[in-house]
Amino acid sequence: PFDVLVVGGGPAGAAAAIYAARKGIRTGVVAERFGGQVLDTMGIENFISVQHTEGPKLAAQLESHVKEYEVDVMNLQKATALIPASEGSLHEVQLENGASLKAKTLILSTGARWRQMGVPGEDEYRNKGVAYCPHCDGPLFKGKRTAVIGGGNSGVEAAIDLAGIVAHVTLIEFDSQLRADAVLQAKLRSLPNVTIVTSALTTEVLGDGAKVTGLVYKDRTSEELHTVELEGIFVQIGLVPNTEWIKGAIDLSARGEIEVDARGATSVPGIFAAGDATTVPYKQIIIAMGEGSKAALSAFDYMIRQG
Ligand code: FAD
Repeated sequence: PFDVLVVGGGPAGAAAAIYAARKGIRTGVVAERFGGQVLDTMGIENFISVQHTEGPKLAAQLESHVKEYEVDVMNLQKATALIPASEGSLHEVQLENGASLKAKTLILSTGARWRQMGVPGEDEYRNKGVAYCPHCDGPLFKGKRTAVIGGGNSGVEAAIDLAGIVAHVTLIEFDSQLRADAVLQAKLRSLPNVTIVTSALTTEVLGDGAKVTGLVYKDRTSEELHTVELEGIFVQIGLVPNTEWIKGAIDLSARGEIEVDARGATSVPGIFAAGDATTVPYKQIIIAMGEGSKAALSAFDYMIRQG
């Protein structure tokens, strides 16, 4: 059995594995896709001390750093169930291939995925104008026209954030009214370079083959189609944690995020969690790495207190 088994091989899982292995304890990482969301990212400019890097390059560096240590990396393996230890036994993680792994402590870092619009052009123009993270990609659209899809808290926050950087923001909400907190809505309405469109369904992302040039939405009241010319589209219709497989085994928030305390401990002793899958706010690479390191130190601390 492992002393520490990390489930998920994104920035949080990689950091957790390195911190655990550096304690000289038996460490494993099981990941559906080592590298995680970083593999889907183009330019990264907010990983502090590295002015610019690219997702696939950072993912390769994560893997080679982990492999500097005696870590058992099990890539392309999906966890399907978690069975917490009962009285003196080990925690168990079952895999899709039928195998099961046992460990004294677990670090859950299965990350999250952005909900997509599912319209023509969205896939084709991802990272070519279609973006999901204003903290990451906002500055790329300095002085340009953008849209934010989604009028919940994250969409309205994104629109306020972008309005300070870009030329113009069109906020598109499916419902007949915004769903964000009143204070955010008031702030948004006070901004001169924001247009709010409600009762609107985005139906297509337009592009010239290389980058986004606009979007089409349908007015749900009149059924008319409208085209907005722009350079960037931020999709803010939800970040879904990859925690379906854990449901029932440990406490999750109403949004499905793993509840963790300041040490990364979950509701089950010996099980820790880190990164985008957890309740920790602001889903970023540098934050996921910090949280992963913290969870590994907490797991080690837990282990040395056991008999
Ligand atoms: P993830 O990166 O999501 O990794 C999760 C890991 O768990 C993966 O290995 C996955 O395969 C695995 N996994 C999931 N389910 C299972 C399962 N059931 N069994 C086994 N393994 C599983 N952040 C920045 O700081 N700067 C940026 O510029 C930036 N740009 C971004 C651009 C895009 C397009 C996207 C999508 C995200 C961007 N982010 C950026 C956010 C950043 O990528 C995430 O915050 C970060 O990757 C979270 O790390 P994580 O380890 O928690 O999760």
